[in-house]
Order: sequence, then structure tokens, then C-alpha cells
Amino acid sequence: MTGSGFIYTGHPSRVVFGFGTTAALPDEMARLGTRRALILTTPAQEAQGQRLADLLGEATVGVFAGAVMHTPVDVSDLAADRARQLKADVVVAIGGGSTTGLGKAIALRTGLPQIVLPTTYAGSEMTPILGETSGGQKRTQTTPKVLPQVVIYDIDYTLDLPVALSGTSGINAIAHAVEALYARDTNPVINLMAVEGIRALVRALPAISSDPHNRTARADALYGAWLCGICLGSVGMALHHKLCHTLGGTFDLPHAETHTLMLPHALAYNAPAIPEAMALLRTVLGPDPAQALYALGHAVGAPTSLEALGMPETGIPRAVDLALANPYWNPRPLERDALTALITRAHTGAAPI
Ligand code: NAD
Repeated sequence: MTGSGFIYTGHPSRVVFGFGTTAALPDEMARLGTRRALILTTPAQEAQGQRLADLLGEATVGVFAGAVMHTPVDVSDLAADRARQLKADVVVAIGGGSTTGLGKAIALRTGLPQIVLPTTYAGSEMTPILGETSGGQKRTQTTPKVLPQVVIYDIDYTLDLPVALSGTSGINAIAHAVEALYARDTNPVINLMAVEGIRALVRALPAISSDPHNRTARADALYGAWLCGICLGSVGMALHHKLCHTLGGTFDLPHAETHTLMLPHALAYNAPAIPEAMALLRTVLGPDPAQALYALGHAVGAPTSLEALGMPETGIPRAVDLALANPYWNPRPLERDALTALITRAHTGAAPI
């Protein structure tokens, strides 16, 4: 790959990684020259937001605990207004992709800098990508305006990430790295991060399933998720991400679970067209990477079929139509019959072929 030339874009963000790194938050705010933080959380994580407010003391101007899935524009408008009223000079988001998304949406509207403390493995904090929903439609844009300035990975938060979400969120991260390996604009540096990210997560996720407080496994998983997030933010995604966006948006399926279910099937579909990526994947997943990912989903106790996630069988033709409409670039051409078979297998929970 090096011989044929490549372009690598590194996104400027500062990363603080380890156990207990939340203690660095006041210093990181000072480094940015900020003194008035608006803290963002979901309703479920409000207590964690309050603890940050206590840590920052007078440097907190408010806690907005209204982050929800899919970053609806009305919530973002409200939160941005709150930031302006409170004269916040930085947003501090603590949570998963939904809370990070709200921070990005506020940054887009106000130009405020962001500090993110991720608590899942979704990876949004490493990307200049924002998906917003309005009137049931999700619109995605890529702009450096939404890239967080500082990311504080504090492994302690992930110790209590529920086991089920740990497994599916971790495989969601692996999906970013898998597709990065066969992206049209992939490059050797991203390949290094993708392989290392997958290696760390594949080692960590089964250990977390059997022992959620395993500190070594939790550290490996968050490290892997960070690398996979860089992959997502740096190169284009293909069939797998298109299928997940289509299925998630149309049938209101949960994000991480849908990724977990679809990844083995999307990889099996593309396998004949991506010999170099498959060779790299075999180094970390064994002789049959698609089957290994299917087995990993079962090992972490993830839902095993689209039917179990609530997608009706009658929706399969619509899902195929939507996947074929405005397709992302993909290494293997999209074929209606093969895609129908793929989604049908995922719907019933059959193994990839
Ligand atoms: P999420 O942020 O929606 O979190 C799911 C639930 O788990 C929430 O209730 C949250 O409060 C809770 N939670 C999170 N961390 C927890 C913890 N440590 N302990 C206990 N509860 C915790 O889920 P997600 O999978 O992280 O993010 C999904 C969203 O992120 C989707 O909308 C997706 O589109 C978006 N996303 C965007 C990008 C991007 O680059 N723009 C990348 C990945 C995901």
C-alpha cells in the first residue's frame, strides 16, 4: 500500500488516558483558557455530571442533563441557548455517543470548545462527524467545527458500563476499524491503528463479559475504542455503516446492537473483494474473521437477530431498497439478491456465509 501512495489526515485533539484522569479536568479547562463550563449528560448519567460540577466548583455554570439518542435539533437548539444565557465558554460532555453528539451540536451553533469524557466505546469523540435528526430524518455532516479539543478517557467510568452495552458498544467500535481497513481512502497509519484497536477489543470484550470490573480488560477496551474512533473519523465507511444507518433510522433499532449484528454479515459480503484487509484481519481474528465476529457477538451475549431487535420480516425488501439508494462507496458492488440474502440471514440470526 505504501508504494501506491496515500493521504493521511490527522485530526488535532488532545487525549488524556488512564484511571482517575477526571482529576485533570480543571487543568485541561485552564489550558484552553476557559473558566465557565456547561456540563452535558443524559438523564441517566446526571449524577456523574453533578460530580464533575462539584469537582469544578465555581468553574461550572450549569448542568444540562437532557442529551438523548439521535441528537434531535430541538434539544440541541435548547442546549445552545442555555450555553449562551449562562455565558459558558466551554462544554464538558460526559457520556456515550448521544451526549458527545449534543456537545458537537452546541459547538456547531456557538463555536464553543469541547472537552469530552467518554463512558462508552462508540468513538464519536474522535470524529469530525455530527448526525442530527429533525422530522424523523437523520442528516450527517463532517466539519472540523465539531471535533472536540480535549478528550479525557477515564477508565473508571467504564467499570460500571453495563455488561450488555459493553459488548455491543465494543463491537460497534470494532466495526469502525474493520471498515477502515478496506476504505477507499485507507492508508498504512490507519491500518496500524485499526489492527491494534481490534486486537485490544477482541482480547478485552470476553474478559469483561465474565468479569465487568477487570481493570486490565477495561483499560484495553477503552484504548481499543479510542483507536477505532480515530479510524472512523479519518477514512470513509462502507456497506456495514450504510446498512446500520438505514436499519437503525428506518426501524428505530438500537445503535450498538445493530452494529454487532450486521458486522459479520457485511464483512462476509465484502470478503471476496478485500484480500489485503482480510489478511490483516486474520492476524487478529483467526482464519475466518466473519465467523469470529459472529462468535464474539454470541460470547458477549448480544441480541442474535434483527427480529429480536424488533425489525419486522416484512421490512426486509424496504431495507434492501434503502441500502441500494444513495449507496456509500463499497469494495464489492451492491447486488440486490445478495443483499436480500444478507439482511434475511441477519434477521433470522443465521451465521454469515
Ligand atoms: P448512548 O450515548 O446513547 O448511551 C446509551 C445509554 O447508556 C444512555 O442512557 C447513557 O446515559 C448510558 N451510559 C453511557 N455510558 C454509561 C456508563 N458508563 N454507565 C452507565 N450507563 C451509561 O450510546 P452510544 O452507543 O455510546 O452512542 C450512540 C449514539 O452515538 C448514536 O446516536 C450514534 O449515531 C452516535 N455516534 C456518533 C458517532 C459520530 O462520529 N458522530 C460515532 C459513534 C456513535
